[in-house]
Amino acid sequence: MTTTTDYLIKGCGLMGLGFADTLARETDAHITLVDERAAPGGHWNDAYSFVTLHQPAPLYGVASSPLGDEVIDPQGCNAGLMRLPSGGEVAVHFRRVLQERLLPTGRVRFLPLHRLEHDVEVVSLLTGARERIVPKKALVDATLLQPAIPLRHSRSFTVEGGAACVPPQALPDQAPGFRHFVIIGGGKTGLDSLSWLLDQGVAPAQLWWVVPRDAWWSNRRAVQTSATHRAGTLSMMRRAAEVMAGAASVQDFCEGLERDAGTLMRLSRDVWPTMYHAASRVRHQTL
Ligand SMILES: Cc1cc2nc3c(=O)[nH]c(=O)nc-3n(C[C@H](O)[C@H](O)[C@H](O)COP(=O)(O)OP(=O)(O)OC[C@H]3O[C@@H](n4cnc5c(N)ncnc54)[C@H](O)[C@@H]3O)c2cc1C
Repeated sequence: MTTTTDYLIKGCGLMGLGFADTLARETDAHITLVDERAAPGGHWNDAYSFVTLHQPAPLYGVASSPLGDEVIDPQGCNAGLMRLPSGGEVAVHFRRVLQERLLPTGRVRFLPLHRLEHDVEVVSLLTGARERIVPKKALVDATLLQPAIPLRHSRSFTVEGGAACVPPQALPDQAPGFRHFVIIGGGKTGLDSLSWLLDQGVAPAQLWWVVPRDAWWSNRRAVQTSATHRAGTLSMMRRAAEVMAGAASVQDFCEGLERDAGTLMRLSRDVWPTMYHAASRVRHQTL
């Protein structure tokens, strides 16, 4: 079977939905969204139970619909800062965008559990049925920034000696059976797992953290958008802009953002980070 659409979008995560959301509001185009997963929201459908957004809700999600509120966290390492929505809340946000904004326009078609192959061939992962969908305006590849997550990718290392090696999704269930933990990976998922174990009261001496390289982290205090925090955020942003304007080298720039603006952080002053993936943190009492 061959059908047509104006925009054929591969991937229904933040990128695909964000694009479709604006397109549906600003044009009368017909849009077809295709995703291998069973629901919109991309990797958030596979989120581990303790994941949260790492920045305040207004800085994430699609343009038409606010994702969260401006409630301030009363306790924990995020105390005093804007609440961070859970992975479940983020997934629900994306489902509501599809159900309440996009599908009611009558111009959006969503094909879950379908894979886009060879740019126009859409295959049902359940039945194997194939449909050729020809985009009249554009094929949009919204998978270029999709992250590889431990639950789905193949390990690049072997596990010996009977050690239990699990993705973060299994950590809350399995952690009570262990006293020592090795966290592998220096990105947000590794950092989340480490912070979660510390928050549960595991002593630092029971934790080993293996990272390929150190990272710069953004200071979450610098991205608070609520009215309460706005003056402080703007002041940090102004100082960061001054540092950028005056920096003579990348090293100068990073040191200035850390020392003068307070917008960049690192684990140890003795190690020069060589990675920046924009993870945001507040300084953990133990880290
Ligand atoms: C655990 C975790 C937490 C994160 N937290 C944050 C955060 O707090 N803030 C932030 O800014 N960023 C965060 N990120 C970064 C994240 O990458 C982006 O925020 C964003 O969600 C990525 O959206 P995406 O649409 O690019 O990818 P995805 O969410 O991965 O969506 C891509 C979709 O494309 C589909 N797909 C791929 N190939 C095909 C095909 N051939 N046919 C059909 N469908 C296909 C996949 O099934 C998938 O659903 C986080 C990432 C992870 C892994």
